[in-house]
Amino acid sequence: MIAAAARTALQKLMGERVRFNALLGRFTSLGVGGPADALVVPEMLDDVEALVTFCAEHDVPLYVLGGGFNTLVLDGGIEGVVLRTQRLREIEVSGDGLLYAEAGVSHSQVARVCQERGLAGLEFSAGIPGSVGGWVMMNAGIPDREIGPLVAEIRVATPSDGTVWIAREELRFEYRGVHGVPERSVVLAAHFQLEAGAREQIRNEIDRHLAHRRNTQPIDQPSCGSVFKNPPGDHAGRLIELAGLKGAREGGAQISSLHANFIVNTGNATAADVTTLIERARDAIREQRGIELETEVRIVGRPG
Ligand SMILES: Cc1cc2nc3c(=O)[nH]c(=O)nc-3n(C[C@H](O)[C@H](O)[C@H](O)COP(=O)(O)OP(=O)(O)OC[C@H]3O[C@@H](n4cnc5c(N)ncnc54)[C@H](O)[C@@H]3O)c2cc1C
Repeated sequence: MIAAAARTALQKLMGERVRFNALLGRFTSLGVGGPADALVVPEMLDDVEALVTFCAEHDVPLYVLGGGFNTLVLDGGIEGVVLRTQRLREIEVSGDGLLYAEAGVSHSQVARVCQERGLAGLEFSAGIPGSVGGWVMMNAGIPDREIGPLVAEIRVATPSDGTVWIAREELRFEYRGVHGVPERSVVLAAHFQLEAGAREQIRNEIDRHLAHRRNTQPIDQPSCGSVFKNPPGDHAGRLIELAGLKGAREGGAQISSLHANFIVNTGNATAADVTTLIERARDAIREQRGIELETEVRIVGRPG
């Protein structure tokens, strides 16, 4: 809960951009989970900077939600403030193939601009659903390509040093994560270093990546993408399938029968249904293989 005085101050600071006790299910791709104590949807970067400072000063937890494609919100909801970046959508191309995109710019917006402006390099990301902020924080990628190497610098609102630019050299990207972003900070925007390319070739590459996904992933059902990171030298989906868990159900959640590293919401799943399947898969792989699977999906909030 947010203390009464902080709640009043937050209402004054954010006006209509804040809602209290706001359900989050429809803002994540899995569509489950409880409410945020407060949900703030900033209109501009200044709002984010003010909110980061506010949360630090009032000791209120702050969680950032981009597209919500890699987030599992538990049924008891999230304590403190959830900041949703959806309206931070400025995108610009400057000379030398530099693409500037605010944190809330979506994967499809990036793909469209790259096609229109003939910018090559990000074609592989066209089907990785989410926002630029989520891409950077997750170092989103496919087996042989990641976002990290294309990031030239990021702009970050920090609780102690105001807004700073952080160059790629100061960041360390790893498999589905990045080091070098200060604690309790919010990514405001990123510059991507791309190259000039032929529009038709870029479009074809994007189409190729999208077609591959349609054939291999349950993209027509609500999910959070890969639940587990792949263990070194293997694939979590392969191990779960070999454990006989493809298609396993718990309440309204199911381990996808198309791709065993995806859990889908068949309509009325709760977060508890999803976490039960996660634990069932983890236990099976530990017992059968001695491998401890690590979740890729960010699990946040309080159990119901
Ligand atoms: C069908 C499907 C397919 C997918 N395929 C892939 C794939 O091929 N490769 C892959 O890598 N991922 C994949 N994913 C997962 C997801 O697309 C990526 O992780 C993506 O980067 C999530 O972006 P988002 O904005 O939705 O992040 P969110 O889920 O909103 O957030 C993810 C994390 O980033 C943090 N975050 C988000 N924005 C900010 C910000 N501005 N500042 C600070 N922190 C922030 C959040 O707090 C959270 O910890 C898939 C998901 C689905 C549903």
